[in-house]
Parts: sequence; C-alpha cells; structure tokens
Amino acid sequence: MPLQSSRKAQNYLLLLLLILLLGGFLATSLVSYYASRDSIRHNIVTTELPLTSDNIYSEIQKDLVRPILIASMMSRDTFVRDWVLAGEADAEPMTRYLREVQEHYGAYTSFFISDRTHTYYQAKGVLKTVKQEEPRDVWYFRVRDMQDLYEINVDVDMANHDAMTIFINYKVFDYQGNFLGVTGVGLTVDAVVKLVDDYQQRYERSVYFVDTTGRLVLTGASGGPLNARSGQSLNTIPGLESLQAKVPTPTSGNFKYQENGRNHFLNVRFIPELEWYLYVDKQEESALAGIRHTLYLNLLICALISGVVMFMVHLAMRRYQLRIAALATTDALTDLPNRRGFNLLATQALHESKRSRNPLSALLIDIDHFKQLNDTYGHLAGDEVLRGFAQHLQSNLRQSDIICRWGGEEFILLLKDTGSSTARQLAEKIRQQTADSRYSYGGVNLQITTSIGLTELHADDTLDRLIARADRALYRAKQSGRDRVCEETFEPLE
Ligand code: GH3
Ligand code: MG
Ligand code: MG
Repeated sequence: MPLQSSRKAQNYLLLLLLILLLGGFLATSLVSYYASRDSIRHNIVTTELPLTSDNIYSEIQKDLVRPILIASMMSRDTFVRDWVLAGEADAEPMTRYLREVQEHYGAYTSFFISDRTHTYYQAKGVLKTVKQEEPRDVWYFRVRDMQDLYEINVDVDMANHDAMTIFINYKVFDYQGNFLGVTGVGLTVDAVVKLVDDYQQRYERSVYFVDTTGRLVLTGASGGPLNARSGQSLNTIPGLESLQAKVPTPTSGNFKYQENGRNHFLNVRFIPELEWYLYVDKQEESALAGIRHTLYLNLLICALISGVVMFMVHLAMRRYQLRIAALATTDALTDLPNRRGFNLLATQALHESKRSRNPLSALLIDIDHFKQLNDTYGHLAGDEVLRGFAQHLQSNLRQSDIICRWGGEEFILLLKDTGSSTARQLAEKIRQQTADSRYSYGGVNLQITTSIGLTELHADDTLDRLIARADRALYRAKQSGRDRVCEETFEPLE
C-alpha cells in the first residue's frame, strides 16, 4: 500500500512537472508569437501598404499627370483650333504639330480626331476615319457625348501594334464653344505595369487599379487578385464581392477581408487625376509564414526538452526509490538485511516451506557477554567484531538461506529445506568456528562465543511463534552456561 501510494504521488509529481514545463513553454511561445503577429499586422497596415501605395501614386503622378496637362494644352492650342476652322485643307501642318508634341514631350502617341470629317490624325499622318459602327472607335463617340472635358482610357493602340496604352482624350472647342474634335496623347502603361509587377514580386502583395464602378482597370502582368483580368468587376471575385460597397467614395483607407479563410489587408487610395482606386492587397498568410514556422520549431524544441527532462526526472526518481528501498531493508553496519528486510523474505520462505512440505529451521544467535567486550575494548572494537562475525556467518550459508541482523548482537538464520538435525550440525559448526576465530582490532585479537537457539518450523506455526520458540531455546542456552546450542520443539497450543 505505501509503495502504491508513493508511486501514485510520484506520478502526480511527474504530471505536475509536465504540465508546468509544457504550460510554461507553450505560454511563452504563444505570447511571443501573438506579439510578433500583432506587430507584423500593425506594420502591414500602418507602414507597408501605405508606403507601397505612396510610391506607386507618386510614380503614377509622374507618368499620368504630365500627359493630362499636355493634352489640356493641346485642346486649348490656337493652332489646332484655327487649323480646323480653316477647313483642314492640308494634313501636313497638323501631323507636324502632333509629331512635335510627341517627340518633345516623349509621349507614346499623339492624335487629333476632327468631328467634322471624322479623320484620325496622328504623328505619322492620317491614320483612318473613325466610324460609329466600328467597335474600336466607340471611344470617340463616347468622348464626344460626355459631360467632362477629358477622360483617361486604357485601351490598345492601333497605331502602335496594339500596345496597351493609357489615352488622355481631351475635347476641343472653337472660340464660341462649339465642339471641334478630340485631341490628346497616349502613353504605354509598361512603366506602371513594371512597377506594379516589381512590387508584387518583391513584397508579396497584389497591386491593381479599380474604377469608380468597381471594374478592374489595370493590373500587373500576371493579373489582379486571384488572377482576375482587366475589365472584370470586383463583384465577381471571391472574397471581394462586398468590398466595393465598403470602400467609401472618394476617400481612402485600410480594410480587412477574408478569401477562402485567408486574411487579407487592403490599402485603398483614390487617385483623383484618374478617378481610379489604387488597391494594395497583402495576404496575411505569407507575412506570418516566417513566425509561424518559428512557433512550430519552438514548440517542437519545447516538447523535446520536456520529454528529455521528464525522462531524466523519471530515471532519477527510480534510482532514488530503489536506493531508499535498499537502505530501508539493510543494516548499515553489517550490510545484512535488517528486520524489515527479513520479514519480507521470511514470510515468503515460510509460505513456500508450508506449501512444499519441505522442512525449515530457524537459528537465533546471540554473542555472549558482548557488553563486556564493548566495555573492555570500546564500542568501535565491538562494531568490528559484529562486522567480522556477520561475514563469518554468511560464509557458512547457502544462497537460499536467509540471514538477518535481528538487533544489537543478535542474528537470525532461516535454513530452507533443512530439518532440525542438519540445522543442529550447522549451528554447532558456527558455534565452534566462532569460538575458534579471532577478530583483530587495534593490534588485539578478540575472541567471542555464541549461544544459539534452534527450532524447526511446524505446519501450524506463524513467523512470530517460530521466532518466539527460537528465542526460548536461546534463553535456555544462555541459562545453561552459554557457548552452546539448545533446541526447542513445537508444542501445540492448549
Ligand atoms: P549475554 O551473554 O547475556 O548476551 O550478555 P551481553 O552483554 O551480550 O548482552 P546484553 O544484552 O546485556 O548486551 C548487549 C550489548 O551489545 C549491549 C550493547 O551496547 C551492545 N551492542 C548492541 N548493538 C551494538 C552495536 O551495533 N555495536 C556495538 N559495538 N555494540 C552493540
Ligand atoms: Mg543480546
Ligand atoms: Mg549477548
């Protein structure tokens, strides 16, 4: 029972240690993970995305605002208006004018479309005549009928191998305010697309432009969010369906949304010159992958350390337990089993003997006048004699016999498979050899004699009764002059 309860207590202790270790490790790992995650999120929202947005915005301003000014100038140019009012007789001055604008300002293309003749002039000459039924010319008629003075239109440029181009289409009026046509410049969006691609790849974020109706107007080379293409409405992109409604017009801000269970952070900025929104979108997963990896590594290390610590503690506990058990059952002076050790072994030996009906004898041995020896030669001399005598006793025993230091200078022997006559012979031998032995201490040879009480186990015996009988036999040996063996036989209780 005490062994069981101490094992239970040990298991509780190990469990508590495990909980403390794992709990502590887990808490510190998670606290640092969440702190890092919060700071990364904060950084994404307050620094990373706005910075990207700022950079792209300033690039766009550089690339787009200038052409708008140029187109505006062209629309107010008196040459253009006078030339149209004069009847467009010769195309050459107009194409020269357009060439000058294009070369001087580094535009990709420059153009003028006359409303009277529907002729499309550009730097290289007359390109064509715009027709209402031609899908590619629809833009002209849209511009002609619109309220605003100009528009920015992303389209392919027919004059330049259908390159993706941003056109600034500006309306031209005569001095009375009558509509004369549309002029402007075009520039490739390559520079902006390259910039967008660069940001997308370098910083793992998605950059795209959306117009006020929620249509994607410009993306990087690989497309917009979830590979959406220009022209696609945001409403058709999973996760972004309801986003447009949330984006306040025309202010900018930060937003968060989920797509297939993944968190996205979004910085939206309105670009008034283009009437477009610039979206900079960062998926949280990729930003957190690093610290999540660190967290898993931490947890693995914690689990390993906990395992090793638990194993070591378990080993140490077992070792101490065995040590304590050995100490509790062993006599320190003689290294023989003490009474506790003896009781465990003797109970089992009695049980076996009764079951197998093999005889078992007990010898109780007491050193004669030991007090005198102590008094004469000192306690240490007594100790030395006890040690020597114990060794001597052991040398006379078989492996199966049980020996014990019963107390002070008394020893007990249980001889298995031994009847009283064999036991008497052994007792005599011990007595004789002891009397003949000399135990040297401090240059003096000490001599002792022993009295031995002998008895044989009876089927009705208990261990106590067996020992009590041996004790009576010993008493008789003492009484009858010491240095002898006396035997006591079993007498049934009345
Ligand atoms: P008897 O012949 O009647 O047995 O006399 P005795 O002196 O041997 O018996 P008694 O019981 O009077 O004294 C036993 C002595 O053994 C007294 C005690 O101090 C001594 N003794 C008990 N244990 C130890 C021990 O570990 N070391 C030493 N040196 N002496 C011990
Ligand atoms: Mg004694
Ligand atoms: Mg004695």
